[in-house]
This record gives sequence, C-alpha cells and structure tokens, in this order.
Amino acid sequence: MEYDYIIVGAGIIGLTTAYHLLELDPGARIIVVDKAPGPASGDTSKSAAAFRVFFTNRVNFLLANHSVSVYRKIQESGYDLGMRFVGYLFMYDKEKWERIRMGLREADKRGLEYELYDAATISERLGVRVEVEGLEEAELMGAHNIEGGLLIPKAGIMMADRLASYYYEKLRQSENVSFAFNSKVTGFTITPREPLGIAGEPFPWQDKRVEGVVLEGGKEIKARKKVIVAAGAWTPFLLWPIGVDSFSRPKKRQIFVLKADTPERRRMLFAEGFNRYNVSPMLIFPNGAYMRPSPEESAFWAGYSDELGRPFKLEEDPVPEENFYIYGLHPMISLYAPAFEGARPTSSWAGHYDLSFDGMPVVYEAFESDLIVSAGTSGSGILKGDAIGLATAALAVGLEEVQLVDGETLKVGWLGLYERAHEKEHMII
Ligand SMILES: Cc1cc2nc3c(=O)[nH]c(=O)nc-3n(C[C@H](O)[C@H](O)[C@H](O)COP(=O)(O)OP(=O)(O)OC[C@H]3O[C@@H](n4cnc5c(N)ncnc54)[C@H](O)[C@@H]3O)c2cc1C
Repeated sequence: MEYDYIIVGAGIIGLTTAYHLLELDPGARIIVVDKAPGPASGDTSKSAAAFRVFFTNRVNFLLANHSVSVYRKIQESGYDLGMRFVGYLFMYDKEKWERIRMGLREADKRGLEYELYDAATISERLGVRVEVEGLEEAELMGAHNIEGGLLIPKAGIMMADRLASYYYEKLRQSENVSFAFNSKVTGFTITPREPLGIAGEPFPWQDKRVEGVVLEGGKEIKARKKVIVAAGAWTPFLLWPIGVDSFSRPKKRQIFVLKADTPERRRMLFAEGFNRYNVSPMLIFPNGAYMRPSPEESAFWAGYSDELGRPFKLEEDPVPEENFYIYGLHPMISLYAPAFEGARPTSSWAGHYDLSFDGMPVVYEAFESDLIVSAGTSGSGILKGDAIGLATAALAVGLEEVQLVDGETLKVGWLGLYERAHEKEHMII
C-alpha cells in the first residue's frame, strides 16, 4: 500500500487534483481515498452547479474564468456536462446599483462581458415585482425596489455529477490511478525525516513529515511524495487532531425545488430575451435569495445563504429545514417573484459550504510536512474546480506558477498563506 500521492476525497477537488497530477507528474502512482461508496458523494452532489466568471476578487475571477473555459471545451468536444450559458442576473436596489455601476470599471479592465437591464425590462420579461416599497412585507424585511440588473453571459448552469464523471472516467482510464471507496481516513502517520530507530519517535525536536494515512480498521497507506487532503467540509475536523488548520469551516446550505406549475411561473422560467435557450437566467434578488432555473424538471431551485446566526457546524447527514423555507426563504422569494407566492417545495436537500475567511480557496503545504491542504471552496468549488485542482497538483509537484487556458498566469502562492492575494470577495452567493 504505497503510492506517490494519496488524495483524501473524491469530490470535484480531489478528482481534478488527481487529473492534473497525472499530467504534471507522468508515471506517478496516485490513490484517491473516500469514505463514500463512489465519487462525488459529498457536497459535489449537493451543489446547485451554477457557474459564473464574475467575482470581485481577481484570483477568484482567474480560477472561474479558466475552469468555465475548460468546461466549455469539454462540452464542445461532445461530453455533455449539461452546460447552458443562461447567464446570471444580479438585481440591485438603488444604493447597490450605484456602487455596482462604479465597480464595473474593474470588469471593463478585465474585458468581462456584461449587460445592464433596467427595472422595467426585468419586470416585463420575467414578471419580477420591481416595486416593493410600501408593501407591508417589504417594510418588515427592509427590502427595496429593484433599480436595475447586471447580466453576466459567461455564466449559467451545469450538472455537477456529469462534471465529476468526466474527471472520474478519465482517471479510470489510467493504470496509475487507483480508487479506494468505503475507506474512511481516521488519521495520519507522522514520522521523522531521519529516523533514529528509537522507540517513541518522532520526538518534538525531530523534523517530521506526514508519511501516509490511517484508515478505519487500522490499515495504513503510505505516500512516497505527498498526502493531499481535499475532503471538503470535513477537512478541518480531519486536520485539527494533528495540529493543522485548513482555515475553512462548514456552514449549512439548503436548496428547495419549486415547480413552475402555473402559467405565471412557467413564464418566468421560460423567460424570453436573455439567452438563446429562452430560459430564465440564474436570478439573484437584492435580498440575496436566488432562483436557479432547472428547465429539465420545469422548476427553479431556490436558496439563500444565511450568515449571522447560522453556526459553523458539520452535520454528517444534513437535512433541509421546513421553517427555514416557510419563514425565511419563501417570503424573500415571493416578495420579488409574486408568481411563487404560496409555492411549496416538491423536494429539497442540504449540504455545506466549506467557507474560507476571504472567499478564496486555501491551497498550501502545512509545515513543509508533505501534507497539502486544498480547502475553502466557499460555495464555488464546482465552477472553479479545474483551476483549484490544477493549483493543488502544481503545489504538489513543486511548481510556483501555472498557465491558465486563457493565457493568464496563476501563482500557486496566491492561494496559500504567505503570498495570499487577499482581497475581499463580495460576490459569494
Ligand atoms: C447547497 C449548495 C449549493 C452549492 N451551489 C454551488 C454552485 O452553484 N456552484 C458552485 O460552483 N458550487 C456550489 N456549491 C459548492 C460546491 O458544491 C463545493 O464547493 C464543492 O462540491 C466542493 O468540492 P470538494 O471536493 O471540496 O468537497 P466534496 O464534494 O464534499 O468532497 C469531499 C469528499 O471527501 C470525502 N471525505 C470526507 N471525510 C473523509 C474521510 N475522513 N475519509 C475519506 N474521505 C472523506 C467525502 O466523502 C467527500 O466525497 C454548493 C454547495 C452546496 C452545499
């Protein structure tokens, strides 16, 4: 049981990391270990799988822009990722609208495409209620009129399971990659770099490395080169017992499926004029609630990232909360989308965001110990997945920078701790 690289976690980050390691270290032997019975069984399967390249943080933009371009190529090569460029429509009240218009100068510098919509057009095409001030519920919630909307065309929806399958199938074709499912990592073996052969090693003064992982039941796997932890929301709990931090922590997130089962709801879902599919873009209302179109099932997926008051907590089997929908999400949605007043979800699910402190992924080598942490996807690990995997693999083989598909250079250190390109991300949804 000895490999060059051990990757803990077969979610999108573990899979893309393995995929890029194959390219960057040809011939290396890799094992991907997951406690689940198959790939992408963690938060990757819980994702809304919406994608966009619009981020305020430049590194997030680079990661997203690269990954979306890669996915587009995969889709165009005939492997269906369910990608549809329906766009994202961010709707703003007066105050934010002024601010965002100024922020667009940054987007112009990056050559990022966008379209601006006035409130009247949004109302006409989608049936969205843009004038809410004066309504009792708007007063209660402190909600304001929609002043305008920003549409990002390089954005849309895809299928997370198809994306994960793409990487998994590619990896399965290589003799150098093994998968160990139903294999829970319970700990790590820490050994001295220069063993003395004395009982009780490693002593505190010895230079140590993480040599491998221990599985439930006691079996050990050794890594000749690196152990890479890409265990999503579970990462901090796996690492804290050995004194390593992922600088990320989990927060529960929920999705509720609302069927477009009335003419008004269908009109909103199959809104004309925003994209070539005549499907509503991903809608983000001024209060932060979102509706992600799911045209195949004639529905929207609705969600909201509640922050203050929602604990950092990992639930092994998170369930959606009825009261969160009834008293939280439903009033927020139906205020701006009156067609969905009284709508009850036909299904729902819950997972976790693995949140870093600044909304950027955290990819670094802990204590030069041959242990690489790849965490903190902060709710956008699908849409940045390829680039995060590339950066993680690059760090594992000792590269300082990588070329992205659009010609940009990504410094791996920008995702780390010491050269971190720290910039607040304002567009976590
Ligand atoms: C409700 C919701 C909506 C989202 N919407 C979007 C979106 O629209 N767009 C987007 O880009 N992202 C979205 N995300 C975020 C996205 O799903 C995550 O960023 C991404 O899936 C993280 O991938 P990962 O590989 O880091 O984690 P995971 O997919 O969770 O993979 C981690 C793996 O590690 C395994 N593991 C954990 N502990 C152990 C252990 N001890 N031993 C062995 N294996 C272990 C788990 O079984 C799991 O398979 C959403 C997330 C949620 C919850």
